[in-house]
Amino acid sequence: MVKIGIIGGTGLENPDFLKDFQEKDVETPFGKPSSKLICGKISDVDIAIISRHGKTHTIMPTNVNNRANVWALKQEGCTHILAATACGSLRDNIKPGDLVFIDQFIDRTSKRHMSFYGDDAYMPNAVCHIPMAEPFCHNLKNILIYEAEKLGLGFHAKGTIVTIEGPRFSTKAESHMFRQWGADVINMSTVPEVVLAREAGLCYASVAMSTDYDCWKEMEESVDINMILQTMKTNAENVTKLFLSVIPKIKHTHCECNEHIKTAVMGEVSEVEKNDIVERKDNNLTAFHENEKKDNIQIKSKIRTIPNWPKQGIMFRDITTLLKDPIGLQLVIDDLVKRYRGKPINKIVGIESRGFVIGGALSYALGIGCVLARKPGKLPAATESQEYLLEYGKDKIEIHKDAISSGDNVLIIDDLLATGGTAMAAIKLVEKLGGKVQEAAFIVDLPEVGGRKKLQDAGYNVYWLTEFEGE
Ligand SMILES: [Zn+2]
Repeated sequence: MVKIGIIGGTGLENPDFLKDFQEKDVETPFGKPSSKLICGKISDVDIAIISRHGKTHTIMPTNVNNRANVWALKQEGCTHILAATACGSLRDNIKPGDLVFIDQFIDRTSKRHMSFYGDDAYMPNAVCHIPMAEPFCHNLKNILIYEAEKLGLGFHAKGTIVTIEGPRFSTKAESHMFRQWGADVINMSTVPEVVLAREAGLCYASVAMSTDYDCWKEMEESVDINMILQTMKTNAENVTKLFLSVIPKIKHTHCECNEHIKTAVMGEVSEVEKNDIVERKDNNLTAFHENEKKDNIQIKSKIRTIPNWPKQGIMFRDITTLLKDPIGLQLVIDDLVKRYRGKPINKIVGIESRGFVIGGALSYALGIGCVLARKPGKLPAATESQEYLLEYGKDKIEIHKDAISSGDNVLIIDDLLATGGTAMAAIKLVEKLGGKVQEAAFIVDLPEVGGRKKLQDAGYNVYWLTEFEGE
């Protein structure tokens, strides 16, 4: 069951948007959250809202009880958190009024509780080393991007936020330094909220709403408070619109975000606390993405379908529209990098020709070698070749004999999995040369054609980003 927690004074707590509206006064092991919880339903999805700075904006950033806020939402049964935060822009191209779906943070806070663990309140004798390489939920962010695009909002699909302690703003020297560090926006509230959400095993995404350029930029015209207030009002309206269309689209109940906590806690943990962790483990046993229907709507929507091409009755899935999109290839590669970074793979075999585009970019991102599996007669040195059956007749692919060595761990890459003939031929080629195929990955699977089943039945791992079924 999906239940969405919302943090931020977003305007959604307006009873006009909520069905079954009720206010709840709650208590957590860490004290009271910043505000009463506003509970209700949006499009039949259960919602709980907290105003981060209190109902009348009286809590300064340092004093926000982040642990109580996140814990209260977890306690209410929330599975996901959507956060909204005002921010200053550190980049020319992030204009006041733009939304940024942040994917990284830099922590410049100094007076905040960073963990539920190791404190007298919860688990005094435990330490939680929670992984934070990718702090924000990839799945939630994809839905935000997709819906923002549909609504025509001005947004940036990624960005690094620096969270400062405040309440004072930065000096010019600091602002310039943050720019040099690679930060794109600045605020006072993302850390440790996102960290605690990860510890609680919740999916967390944040929408940063740019209100002004931080003090690094010399403005030609003076900024008056009315302009800033107007921007903030428009921002809040846009985020409300965005959240209203995002909330019904949130369906995933298993995510990497739920996994990290399972292996992060060290030290003495009491029976009750152990149950809490174990229970979370049991709830999330299903491996992320394994063999479940994949509906990566954002990628899928960028793929064009050409009916009756190359012949009558075929619905051709054309990925050139995905590749040409400014963030299309980035979405594909980001997803694959997430899956394969740190995995025991030392070579990628890309299948001619669209497999070259994806294989090349992924090799670059992972820092491993790329091998081309080509049509016959294209490779200049000694080749190994493998035949495979087509609907009428046979075809062949080849790779250089010296491209794969015994003991290589290989990932096969192509754009589309239909009958699986070419993919199977590529696998055979790798095996002939002594390599081991760890997985075969595709952007699109056509499950009805049966290639995936064929590969899986033969004992190979298959990964795909989206699928078209009977459409
Ligand atoms: Zn997640």
